Amino acid sequence: MSDSTGKRLLIAYAHPDDESFGSGGLIAKYVAEGAQVGYICATNGDMGTIPASMREQYNTVSEVRLAELQCATEVLGLDPVVCFGYKDSGMMNSASNQDPECLWYGWQNQPDVLIKRIVQVIRDFRPHVIVTFNRYGGYGHPDHIAIQQATTQAFSLAGDSGYQLDGTQPYAPQKLYYASIPGRLLKLYLRWMTLRGHDIRHMGVNKDLNYQAVIDNLEPIHTMIDVGVYFEVWDRAADCHVSQGRGRSSGTRGYLASLPKPLRRLVSGQYGLTRIFPQPPQDRVDEHDIFAGVR
Ligand SMILES: [Zn+2]
Repeated sequence: MSDSTGKRLLIAYAHPDDESFGSGGLIAKYVAEGAQVGYICATNGDMGTIPASMREQYNTVSEVRLAELQCATEVLGLDPVVCFGYKDSGMMNSASNQDPECLWYGWQNQPDVLIKRIVQVIRDFRPHVIVTFNRYGGYGHPDHIAIQQATTQAFSLAGDSGYQLDGTQPYAPQKLYYASIPGRLLKLYLRWMTLRGHDIRHMGVNKDLNYQAVIDNLEPIHTMIDVGVYFEVWDRAADCHVSQGRGRSSGTRGYLASLPKPLRRLVSGQYGLTRIFPQPPQDRVDEHDIFAGVR
């Protein structure tokens, strides 16, 4: 086991639930090993649908989603959590993309604002390592793509003394990763779904998930992290997001959570990442710790 004490990891995603469904095992592992793990949550997740029974308890969908994030924050031990408060943009090409308060619109029209906010978090929290989505935003969600692009630029700018931001000092994080998903397993699952008559280009509750595109946009994995003993915390964090049905419709974890535990450990006990910086000499798995080589 690596000694991560004193190390800092920043996860930059888009929605209240991305941290748990996608990376709950990774976060649980590093918090357990003594690292400090911070989370940027760019939107309030207010395009998510919630069960009618929850609408009586809360005034808005945002309130529900942020309360669920608070629950997951406590379970996982995230600190700090910084919410930017953008509106959820909905899926690509939906009318909600044009809402001036949504993340996608903000990123298209005022990219400097988003980059500055991320640089601010990086310079304040001083993470050694940053993780965000891959270039396709996992499954093509515009908010995922926006935070991935902005975080990638902020990663470089944070250490640039020419990039001035009041009250901050330049700080260069040492490593940048894009989160991946177990491609081989996903392909097996999709073959099974195809056999059962599903159209894998139109999946999910709203039929707007194209899993063929997810596979076409997978990036090479350079880093494999063993998270197989952290399912219990991972599940408890995912359970916080009651309104999202524990991720049944939400990417990787949806089909993983339904597997029997021994099988699940076998197929999702390893968490894969694409290393963007420093650039790997070749595309193969060459490390098993996100903090490897960190000074
Ligand atoms: Zn998301």
